[in-house]
Amino acid sequence: MDMLSIVVPCYNEQEALPIFYRAVSKVAGELKEVRLEIIFVNDGSRDKSLEEMKALAQKDSRVKYVSFSRNFGKEAAMYAGFRYAKGDYVAIMDVDLQDPPELLPEMLRSIREEGYDCVATRRVSRKGEPVIRSFFARLFYRMMRRISSTEIVDGARDYRLMTRQFVDEILHLCEYNRFSKGLFGWVGFETKWLEYENVERSAGETKWSFWKLLLYSIEGIVGFSTAPLTFSAFVGAVFCLVAFVAICFIVVRTLVQGDPVAGWPSMVCIMVFIGGIQLFCIGILGEYLAKTYLETKKRPIFICKETNIHETED
Ligand code: UDP
Ligand code: MG
Repeated sequence: MDMLSIVVPCYNEQEALPIFYRAVSKVAGELKEVRLEIIFVNDGSRDKSLEEMKALAQKDSRVKYVSFSRNFGKEAAMYAGFRYAKGDYVAIMDVDLQDPPELLPEMLRSIREEGYDCVATRRVSRKGEPVIRSFFARLFYRMMRRISSTEIVDGARDYRLMTRQFVDEILHLCEYNRFSKGLFGWVGFETKWLEYENVERSAGETKWSFWKLLLYSIEGIVGFSTAPLTFSAFVGAVFCLVAFVAICFIVVRTLVQGDPVAGWPSMVCIMVFIGGIQLFCIGILGEYLAKTYLETKKRPIFICKETNIHETED
């Protein structure tokens, strides 16, 4: 019998965990054609999430947990989940029920019967989300569509169901700076998209501040496009051209009209402006350099402190 692994990254989710478990157990009744394992990844929670996971694992042998030595971030938690998952199919879900488990049977059917390699989900609305956050999210996706050759879908959730082959390919991409929405698109394969309305969190609160999301979007841009580098080179070229024209103009004017010394304020403005552009472009370069620097260290993506996976399996 095939096995379905559900990977669930959790960070300070003690209230959401039991609600999630109940909801998935209910759906499990409809998933009779597969064996189930639920892998909770405790991403360095400071609350009682790990205790909650252990209690669930005691009650139900299908529940597994992997606990990190500290908070490594959701990307690392997803990667760890994929590494530990043994299933022939692997799903990734948030614990807050914003990814409706009721979709699982349909997703599984699409893979088993329609031959897709992956079934992914996207939100068609951002109801209940702060307006500014939605605005910048939309802007980000629109920009990514232009500057990256990898398909990154607007409103795409991480919630998806994949075949073993798809997951193995994701695992081969062992880069340190991970941006899964891009990685999923990068590996290719046939993906079916399911759409649903945004659902609000079951309990607890979002872990993503505006600032964290901004940094995450920079991760996405730097990870999947080199357009900013081209852009800074382009800006440099345009400024050289403008400077050349300005020099010609000033030389001719001085020869024709003489040289009354004037224009200091405008000169200062121009110097500050160009200085700013230079720093901005160096900043772009620095962003790529920093990511390269982090990659070359080859640090592990996560450190597992404890898990029940080997104990029960081997
Ligand atoms: N999460 C995590 N590590 C983190 C932040 C979040 O494992 O550092 C998990 C979190 O527990 C949840 C999922 O990632 O299961 C999505 O987080 P959240 O619901 O806060 O994000 P949102 O849905 O608001 O984008
Ligand atoms: Mg959420």
